[in-house]
Parts: sequence; structure tokens; C-alpha cells
Amino acid sequence: NMNAKAGPRPFKLVLLGDGRVGKTSLVLRYVDDVFSDSQTATVQASYLTKRLNINGVVVTLSIWDTAGQERFHALGPIYYRDADAALLVYDIMDKDSFTRVRNWVKELRQMASKDIILAIAANKSDLVRSQKIDLQEAERYAASIGAKHFVTSAKLNTGIEQVFLDITTRALEKR
Ligand code: GDP
Ligand code: MG
Repeated sequence: NMNAKAGPRPFKLVLLGDGRVGKTSLVLRYVDDVFSDSQTATVQASYLTKRLNINGVVVTLSIWDTAGQERFHALGPIYYRDADAALLVYDIMDKDSFTRVRNWVKELRQMASKDIILAIAANKSDLVRSQKIDLQEAERYAASIGAKHFVTSAKLNTGIEQVFLDITTRALEKR
């Protein structure tokens, strides 16, 4: 009986990050376990839900993905309203997309709750061909904003379960 173990109201998680970093791909991999190399730009702000069982507590995560408005930095207040957590995504091969994570955090500070739970995903790790990538700066930055830093690949399904589990577990602990 699911009701007997029903957890708190759904947690709202918003995806943030530049266009093309792989936000939609991460969500689709996590929720539907699919990946497309030719993922077409999302045309509608989408909203997907996923149920998780955390130590016997059933938690529903409602995952908000953008409709491409991130290109204009115009997500609007409804996107942020009552968000429990934010997943900041950048492309591990695109330094600018990492630099701009700071802008997304700035926007979060203005638009979302002060105690919002944060995680950062360095996505497209499958494209790293050498050990040149230095994650120390990214990890230090993540720690400075109270976020955990994850290396992910939506293509290879790397690190993704861990990201969403970390976010949901922390959200649950806070309730
Ligand atoms: P969004 O604009 O942030 O939602 O990014 P999309 O999910 O639409 O992805 C943009 C492009 O990057 C698409 O061509 C995806 O197939 C590709 N992509 C997304 N994630 C990965 C990944 O982990 N590895 C690789 N190689 N490509 C990816
Ligand atoms: Mg998208």
C-alpha cells in the first residue's frame, strides 16, 4: 500500500543552465532512460515527475525543464516559485557554460528561496578524451555555494541517478 508510506508533498526541482548543455537530455535519461544525439530544442517548458523510494519513504519529484527561454535568461517567476531544489548544469567541454553557472546562481538568489537545495552537474563527460579537465575549481565553487558537484553523461547514463538521489535525499532531510 503506497499510501501507508506516502511521503511529503512533491518536491519541486528546477533545471538551470545555458542552452545546449544537456538539461533536457539529463531529465529524459533519468525519467525515461532514453537519449538522442539529435535532441531537438525543447519547445515547451516541460514538467515530469518521478517517484523515488528513499529508505522506505516514497517521494515524488516534480522536475521542471525549460522551454529554451534560458537563452534569453527569461525563465520568469513561476519557474522558480516554491522550488525546493535546483540542478545547475554545464557542459564539461564548454568553459563559458561553467562561468555562467554563477549567473544562474545569482538569479536563483533573487528568485528562489534562500535555503534552496543546490547541485551542479558537469555534463557530457563522455566527450572528455584526456585528463586535461581540472575539476578542482568547479568543486571548490560548488562547495562555496553549498552544492555537491557531479560529473554526468546523459549519453552514457553516468552519474545521473546519483545527482537526483542526492538532491531528493537532502530535500527530504530538510522537511
Ligand atoms: P538543453 O538545451 O540544455 O536542454 O540541452 P539538450 O538536452 O537539448 O542537449 C543539447 C545537445 O547536447 C543535444 O544534441 C544532445 O544530444 C547533446 N547532449 C546532451 N547530453 C549529452 C551528453 O551527456 N553527452 C553528449 N555527447 N551529448 C549530449
Ligand atoms: Mg532543453
